[in-house]
Amino acid sequence: MTTQQKRAVVLLSGGLDSSTVLGIATRRDGYTCAALSFRYGQRHTVELDRAAQIARHFGAEHRIIDINLGSFGGSALTDETITVPTDGADDGVIPPTYVPGRNTVFIAIGLSLAEAIGAERIYLGINAVDYSGYPDCRPEYLEAYQHLANLATKAGLEGHGAALVAPLLHMTKVDIVNAALELGVPVDVTWSCYQGGTEPCGVCDSCRIRDRALTEAGHPELASRPAQLAADSGLTS
Ligand SMILES: [Zn+2]
Repeated sequence: MTTQQKRAVVLLSGGLDSSTVLGIATRRDGYTCAALSFRYGQRHTVELDRAAQIARHFGAEHRIIDINLGSFGGSALTDETITVPTDGADDGVIPPTYVPGRNTVFIAIGLSLAEAIGAERIYLGINAVDYSGYPDCRPEYLEAYQHLANLATKAGLEGHGAALVAPLLHMTKVDIVNAALELGVPVDVTWSCYQGGTEPCGVCDSCRIRDRALTEAGHPELASRPAQLAADSGLTS
């Protein structure tokens, strides 16, 4: 018999953050991972193709769950009639790219999968430092959800419920880039852009945060557009 494998569920969007988390779960923490992605009615499904590639890269099983939050609308990411902002984020304002209840729904499904397969942990890529002001990316949100998870599952009542683990929660985006490179995340495969298309737009909030971090970490060549090009077109922030 082989030794028992430690199992974990990793919510994987295909972006830089969740891909780094999959690297942490597999390579640093030694878990056998089930990567979980959602076809939730987002503007584009480039990220799902990228998620599949990242899961393969780290030897994780990959599942895509269909849950059409787009039928509710209410977000620039799920409703084509709401524009994705491209001129930077305002402090203290939750941007229109917030998807109503998205993390709450996704983690609930992750919790179900984790209990079904006996996973010890659910890894999440949420980050409370360089983020866009989303309410479901905060430490107090995570704590409350852990409390719910412990109450809500048979495994939790038996004392071996899945732990919600968010290794990037207090990391800066530059720290995340450095961790990604150390863990061998194929950064060029990850897709963080809110928009679809064949190339990242370079001007949505997600691209801006990512590109700035890549540049500050000394890897401008990995940014969605070279810094000089962005400066020339007045798009740096
Ligand atoms: Zn973008």
